[in-house]
Amino acid sequence: MKNAIQFCLMLAMAGNVFAHEYKTLAELMAGWGTDIASREVTVQTLQPGLHVLFGAGGNVLVSIGDQGVLMVDSQFPEMIPKLRQAIKELGGDDIDFTINTHWHFDHADGNPMLGREGTWLVAQENARRMMVGSHDLHYVDTSYRQPAYPSIALPVITYADRMTFHFNGDRIDLLHFGAAHTTGDSAVLFRDANVIHMGDVFNARYPFIDADNGGDLDGTIRFCRSVLDLINRETRVIPGHGPVLDYGALEAYTSMLETVRDRLQLMLDRGLTLDQVIAAQPTAEYDEQFGDPQLFIIKAYMSLSR
Ligand SMILES: [Zn+2]
Ligand SMILES: [Zn+2]
Repeated sequence: MKNAIQFCLMLAMAGNVFAHEYKTLAELMAGWGTDIASREVTVQTLQPGLHVLFGAGGNVLVSIGDQGVLMVDSQFPEMIPKLRQAIKELGGDDIDFTINTHWHFDHADGNPMLGREGTWLVAQENARRMMVGSHDLHYVDTSYRQPAYPSIALPVITYADRMTFHFNGDRIDLLHFGAAHTTGDSAVLFRDANVIHMGDVFNARYPFIDADNGGDLDGTIRFCRSVLDLINRETRVIPGHGPVLDYGALEAYTSMLETVRDRLQLMLDRGLTLDQVIAAQPTAEYDEQFGDPQLFIIKAYMSLSR
C-alpha cells in the first residue's frame, strides 16, 4: 500500500498525469458541442459533379457523374440519410464507393449503413486492420473506446501505398505515405479537378496525432511534404474538418509542424518533462491561428519520445 502511494506521488510529482475518463460517443460529442441528430448537411460545390458536404464529423467529398457516386468519408449513421438526400438533390443516386481516409469513428461510423446497402468500402490496409479491432482514443482528459466494426462495415478493397480510380472522367489517386495522423491515412487526389482530401493529416487547427495507436509527428510532416510535392498552388485542399483550404494553408501548416517539432526535439534532448514542455509554450506564436495546443503537444511529445 505504501509503495502504491509512493508510486502515485512520484507520478504526480513527475507531472504528465492526466486522469482519463472514458466517455460514450454521445458524451464525447456533447463535450465538443456537436449534436449529431440536429446537424444538417451543407454543400459547397467545387465544380460540376464534385462537392464538399459538411455535416457532423469529417468533411465528405463526393463525386457525382455518369458512372455513379463516389464519396470520401462516411461521418455517422445519423448523417447517412441526410448525406443521401443531399446527393439526390445534387443529381446522384446510390453511393457506389466510399473511401475512408482513416479508421476514426468520425470518418467511418457511417460504414455499417453503407456496407449494408451495397456500397463498396475502400481504405488503406492499415485502416482496415484497425477497424477490425477496438481501440482507445485518448484526448487531454477524456478517452473513448472505439468499438470494432462489424464485418459489413469493413473495407472490401484495400491497398498498400497507392491505388487509382478512373471514375466519372477523373483520375482519383489514393495516396499513403506511412504513419501520420494514424497508421492508415489516405489522401484522395482528384487529378483533373485538382482537389485533394487530406483526412485528419491536415486540419485548420493543430493536428491530433494519434500516437497511442501508432500516429507519428515526423510521419505527419513527411506525409504533408509528399503531398505538397504532388500538387500545385491552384490545388484546393480539403482538411479533415473545417472549411476548404488551399496549397498555401497546407504549406504554412507543414512549416508550423516542422518548427514546433524542432523545438520539441531540443526540449526532449535536454530532458524536459511533458509538463515542462507545455509550460515552455513551444507553439505560442501559432496558438492564435491553430487554437489550444495542449493535445497536440501531448501527442507530439509522445511521438518524439518513442
Ligand atoms: Zn476527424
Ligand atoms: Zn482522425
